[in-house]
Amino acid sequence: MKIFVINAGSSSLKYQLIDMATEEVMAKGLCERIGIEGSKLTHKPTGKNPFEAEKPMPSHTDAIKMVLDALCDKDHGVISSLSEISAVGHRVVHGGETFSCSTIINEDVKRALEICSEFAPLHNPANLIGINAIEEAMGKDVPQVGVFDTAFHQTMPSKAFMYGIPYKYYEKDKIRRYGFHGTSHRFVSGEAAKFFGKPIEELKIITVHLGNGSSVAAVKYGKVIDTSMGFTPLAGMLMGTRCGCIDPAIIPILMDKYNMSTSDVNNMMNKDSGVYGISGVSSDFRDLAVAASEGNKRAQLALDMFTYQTKSYIAAYAAAMGGVDAIVFTAGIGENSPSIREAAVEDMEFMGIKIDKDKNQIRGTVDVTAPDSKTKILVIPTNEELMIAKDTLQLIDNK
Ligand code: AMP
Repeated sequence: MKIFVINAGSSSLKYQLIDMATEEVMAKGLCERIGIEGSKLTHKPTGKNPFEAEKPMPSHTDAIKMVLDALCDKDHGVISSLSEISAVGHRVVHGGETFSCSTIINEDVKRALEICSEFAPLHNPANLIGINAIEEAMGKDVPQVGVFDTAFHQTMPSKAFMYGIPYKYYEKDKIRRYGFHGTSHRFVSGEAAKFFGKPIEELKIITVHLGNGSSVAAVKYGKVIDTSMGFTPLAGMLMGTRCGCIDPAIIPILMDKYNMSTSDVNNMMNKDSGVYGISGVSSDFRDLAVAASEGNKRAQLALDMFTYQTKSYIAAYAAAMGGVDAIVFTAGIGENSPSIREAAVEDMEFMGIKIDKDKNQIRGTVDVTAPDSKTKILVIPTNEELMIAKDTLQLIDNK
């Protein structure tokens, strides 16, 4: 069984073709600048030379057709015909309260996704375009599955997902915490349970996804009970360019004082803030580490804020769960930055949390727990595409 996994953005499309017998990636790639001048496909077939093509891609359907051609090409292809693809799994950003697990896509699901677009106006429409483009390119008979970033967090109790604003905004407008990166939190918490050799239903796990976007989740006995992102992925800790949680009163004050429009403040909070806005250097943690080591105080402040906020969530979620068996670091920063991991759990010995500084330098999937730590600290690379492919396979098997 070969599953094609798609992550469609407004002008980009990432993909992987996964052989489910081995769980190995047969090919992966990216279409950039769809619908804009300078469209480009970068295709990386496993065991063969990568292939790049700059060719107009006016729509997502054109992009998908190019990708499907590349997959079947005699030189850089990995399959002989499209009939080898059993199903297509899509990353869908927002499933609202409608989707608490992955689902086979049909016309009703598409309509529900359109309704959820109100919550993720930049992402959900692109996901839907991706779904329709596959239908156009491969026909209606190929099963398609939607895997939602929000779904894993749907188990949160109302005391964790409600905001302290008038209740009518929840009833009428569904304003509440949804949480994101759910596929990643689900994957790494599942892998952590495998590491323990115990059912996830017996474990209290804090998953710490630190990447361009960052979020923390409390996974108690396999169910999320709280997570740091909110109604949108802007909430929680400060991130690369996103501000995370701030005093909401700051917004109207800045709007009045600087005559800012809603799109001005949205841009400021999403694109000019976070560690980039604090440091004035970069949103990339490698650049920040270099700048801080050269004495740049604002770069150091940005790093300190980031690790302090991570630590605050870890402590809060340990309290919320009444203890923690494992803390799992994942994503670009969580997997690759020993110094961020070390600072995020510094001085937590009083809670039974202690990292082994030497083991923490090792790369890959690794247990970095100090011998005298009660809580395990693990680094587990995330693999959202494999999780999407597994869900897709499971749903079409049960069809
Ligand atoms: P992601 O969104 O998960 O792809 O993570 C991307 C982020 O990971 C980048 O913005 C970098 O800041 C960070 N990153 C990648 N490699 C390293 C590294 N070796 N050290 C620190 N940060 C890293």
